[in-house]
Amino acid sequence: DVPVITIDGPTASGKGTLADEVGKALGFGVLDSGALYRVTGLAARRAGLNLDDGAAVAAIVPTLDLSFREGHVYLGTEDVSARLRAEATGLLASQVAVHPAVRQALHQLQLNFRQLPGLVADGRDMGTSIFPDADLKIFLTASAATRAERRYKQLISKGVSANIESLREDLEARDERDKNRSTSPLAPAQDAQLLDNSALTIEASVAQVLDWWQT
Ligand code: C5P
Repeated sequence: DVPVITIDGPTASGKGTLADEVGKALGFGVLDSGALYRVTGLAARRAGLNLDDGAAVAAIVPTLDLSFREGHVYLGTEDVSARLRAEATGLLASQVAVHPAVRQALHQLQLNFRQLPGLVADGRDMGTSIFPDADLKIFLTASAATRAERRYKQLISKGVSANIESLREDLEARDERDKNRSTSPLAPAQDAQLLDNSALTIEASVAQVLDWWQT
């Protein structure tokens, strides 16, 4: 069996960075499942679809010409990586992610990432729904204030202006939608290790996960 480590948690908890670092340390591939919801939201918006129409949004998933190369995401020949990371795209993603048909359409795509020598998968339902047999499950949290501050610094460092209060409101709105939806709501798997990284450096979080992995 191909080993899998899942990292789930709320918006801006640092899942992506942790997944990348753990993947690098173990030589495993990385699945950023949020990128799949983001690209679906973006494509649905561009196609002028009503994002509340789950069947219509799910129907475009098999038509997406998606590829992943060197940490970049391509839609056809267009590198959409930067656009996917925008806050606005995160909101589109959480709107389309409430639909069971959309989650179903993305299910197999996510399973396909499970390849030797192993996978680190990050998202909201990696340990509960997509890889319930994962070898190690992490549920990563950080306070809303910490998460808003990290997102703020990230944006400022890229020269994007931002408002910390509205960032916090946006991420709390997204968390609420993720927790309260009927399909695969954001919640720790029963067998998940809880990791609050509010006061931890990235290195310390990586070390903790590798320690769990080795024991
Ligand atoms: O993790 P990221 O911020 O990229 O995810 C964007 C949105 O996609 C989340 O707010 C959530 O609504 C949705 N998502 C999901 N299930 C996943 C990953 C992301 O519902 N496994």
